[in-house]
Amino acid sequence: MSNRQKLAIDGGEPIRTKPWPKWPLADSETEIALLDVLHSGRWAISGMYNGTELYERRFSEEFAKYNGVNYCVPMSNGSAALTVALEALGVGYGDEVLVPGVTWVACASAVVRIGAIPILVDVDPDTLCMSIEAARQAITARTKAIMLVHLYCTIADLDAFVNLSHETGIPLLEDCSQAHGALWSGKRVGSFGHVGVFSMQDTKVLSSGEGGAVITDDPVLHNSMQQLRSDGRRYGTSPVLNDIELEEVGEVLGRNLCLSEFQAAILYTRLKHLDEENRLRVQNANYLFKQLAEKVSGVKGLKLYPQVDQPTYYRICLFVELSQFNNISISQLQRILSMELGLRINLVDTPLNRNILYQPSRSRRINNDVLNRIDPAQFALPNAEYAATCHLAIHHRVLLGTAQDIDDIVLAFEKIQHNFD
Ligand SMILES: *Cc1c(COP(=O)(O)O)cnc(C)c1O
Repeated sequence: MSNRQKLAIDGGEPIRTKPWPKWPLADSETEIALLDVLHSGRWAISGMYNGTELYERRFSEEFAKYNGVNYCVPMSNGSAALTVALEALGVGYGDEVLVPGVTWVACASAVVRIGAIPILVDVDPDTLCMSIEAARQAITARTKAIMLVHLYCTIADLDAFVNLSHETGIPLLEDCSQAHGALWSGKRVGSFGHVGVFSMQDTKVLSSGEGGAVITDDPVLHNSMQQLRSDGRRYGTSPVLNDIELEEVGEVLGRNLCLSEFQAAILYTRLKHLDEENRLRVQNANYLFKQLAEKVSGVKGLKLYPQVDQPTYYRICLFVELSQFNNISISQLQRILSMELGLRINLVDTPLNRNILYQPSRSRRINNDVLNRIDPAQFALPNAEYAATCHLAIHHRVLLGTAQDIDDIVLAFEKIQHNFD
């Protein structure tokens, strides 16, 4: 066997040593905006009004408009946005919230942080998003919110969950931290539920390093979410030069979860590129799926409902039929592929009923009377368990280059598969 055919993990030559497209991205407009903030004399919304409109307010207007809703409240991060959204929806101590069994841990820990109880719901095997049947079965008289997460690169069955929310009167929260800009029946995800939540953390498709936001059409929710994130304050109506722009209201017990002006400036300038970057990701992802179908056996993308007019590829999630790879384990394939591509390939999130990051019993929030209701191990998540054994997830930066970058991914799968022939 030549050194090119030999797997990189066995000391052979890897398919790729060239760097991958960079993420996160910025251009001179972002640079200028950051310098503008630096010299403005105001770095936070709680600073003194200096006669210019805050980037935070400009971004919030643009992001609301972009998503086709009335309001947006930026936040320090996606986890903060989740807790604020839940509190605004009236979720509190001992209440139950449906949370998908596969998602980033913050979805469940945000619920625990406000003293409520995450009910872990199994996922649909085709989308890895919350299963509508399992959600129906998990609803009780204590269910106070449904947290629907659009995961990796696909969209949950929004029509079914919107119906369920109408039928039961239980508010729907859409976590769109992995789906900025996705379209369902021509409308942006996040605008279907009572609240849409976003993370703008480093890896997300719209990023300010750390950052987050909530969107809503409901003026009552908007008012409480503004106050929840800025110690009970909200924007006043007529700002006065050299005075604070926030008025003290105190209708809720808030915290400081505000986004800084530096982060807001980055988001304001990067939002303009989101559609174009999403389109490039879709184009390259479609090319990847086509090439995989032609050249590799047993590797394909997740199901997209026909209502998805535009998906957002945060992570390309690939289902792998491991019998086509000599029945190695998914984590072996992950390591082999990572070595071939010089890129960290991910597995999907470990089911939350056995995820090492999800330790509600170690939270000071939790009293003994609710501890047994929270215990993650009590939730059976067979589809989530199965999904964890046969999916890979690749960060979207690989989709921001050219067809040649995609060819390397396909070549790596081909090489690995031939190695087992
Ligand atoms: C990233 C992410 C979060 C958490 O956002 P942070 O900004 O890291 O706090 C929540 N939910 C989902 C689905 C995420 O992907």
